[in-house]
Amino acid sequence: MSDYRIETKCIQSGYTPKNGEPRVIPIYQSTTFKYENSDAMGKLFDLEDSGYFYTRLQNPTNDAVAAKICDMEGGVAAMLTSSGQAANFYAIMNIAEAGDHIICSSAVYGGTYNLYAHTIRKMGISATFVDPDASEDELNAAFQENTKAVVGETIANPGLNVLDIEKFAKVAHAHGVPLIIDNTFATPINCRPFEWGADIVTHSTTKYMDGHATAVGGCIVDSGNFDWDAHADKFPGLTTPDETYHGLVYTERFGKGAYITKATSQMMRDLGSIQSPQNAFLLNLGLETLHLRMPRHCENAVNAAKFLQAHDKVAWVNCPSLEGDKYYDLAQKYMPNGTCGVITFGVKGGRDACVKMMDALKMIAIVTHVADSRSCVLHPASHTHRQMNEQELLEAGVQPDLIRFSVGTENIEDIIDDLKQALECV
Ligand SMILES: *Cc1c(COP(=O)(O)O)cnc(C)c1O
Repeated sequence: MSDYRIETKCIQSGYTPKNGEPRVIPIYQSTTFKYENSDAMGKLFDLEDSGYFYTRLQNPTNDAVAAKICDMEGGVAAMLTSSGQAANFYAIMNIAEAGDHIICSSAVYGGTYNLYAHTIRKMGISATFVDPDASEDELNAAFQENTKAVVGETIANPGLNVLDIEKFAKVAHAHGVPLIIDNTFATPINCRPFEWGADIVTHSTTKYMDGHATAVGGCIVDSGNFDWDAHADKFPGLTTPDETYHGLVYTERFGKGAYITKATSQMMRDLGSIQSPQNAFLLNLGLETLHLRMPRHCENAVNAAKFLQAHDKVAWVNCPSLEGDKYYDLAQKYMPNGTCGVITFGVKGGRDACVKMMDALKMIAIVTHVADSRSCVLHPASHTHRQMNEQELLEAGVQPDLIRFSVGTENIEDIIDDLKQALECV
């Protein structure tokens, strides 16, 4: 980890050109890499030497960008993935297998819910979903002999529940398993979950990190803090020989780099969800201004929330940075400088009124996205979460009249003008 402050890390970390080299990370648009002799390449296949040979495993552009995100989060190793979904999938599959179990906050992104509730279940890994506000006792009660991880989101998409990371970490560690935090909405500008005890962080870099809605991508970062060897019986994949690499043991050979090395050399080798170097380049451009954009997103979000709260056609507003919000105290603890640009609200008159209001917006677009510079809205009950029944919706913190509003970085007056005229149409 560098000693730079977070703003400097956004710009400087991950890539330091040597004499005469390009100032900006080049796009290594190459599937493969050349070696002088057969033995040199053989050593790479045995993980004896580190180096590039095939972009499905590693690529210099991707590694530089992963190293930047790693430094921003304060971790020891990181890898990029093709999407946030791939990151959340690999983060679990890297330490769990058929017969295992995970605990997940019920307030998570709809795609993550489907992944953990249905898809990994078909692979033999079951999940128990817990209330994001669960007490320590309730969390303890969710553990089983075969539990391998606890998972949650810093700020849940779209429930905007702020997770008590310290509490979740304490309980996870008491049971000898890591806490995995999806830090997509907060970004390391506003919260660095490792500082509160989380062990692994995941990102959908598609959101604020890219920030311009140009490149789908994901990232997994390891804090290096979880002691896999201390719980060796639970994590044989990391602590016993890997026959596909002549019996090497990841924790023995790679120490704090064990988790990410295994994720690269097994998950990425076999499942192949690499981020394209072109997308990694775009992601890096986004990262360079993340520290400038996040405060503006947060400021606009609070001002939009205040406007909506005072409007007589609006039923309710959630914005964790706004005093009076259910999560205000937790937000102040974990994200005193701001949470994110996403807020949620309901229009009086329920589902139909919400749809009517959204259809009347002129600048603010209806899109399946959040967290880019352009303001946009989405109605989760009709869109991202439409597969869920009413009960599942409520458990995920999604009221049927909830509009997810991703407040962009435009002039706040223009944002409010658009909201105002659309509310008049309801
Ligand atoms: C969007 C999102 C994901 C999924 O990421 P993709 O890049 O779309 O695959 C995961 N977690 C959170 C919190 C998200 O917002």
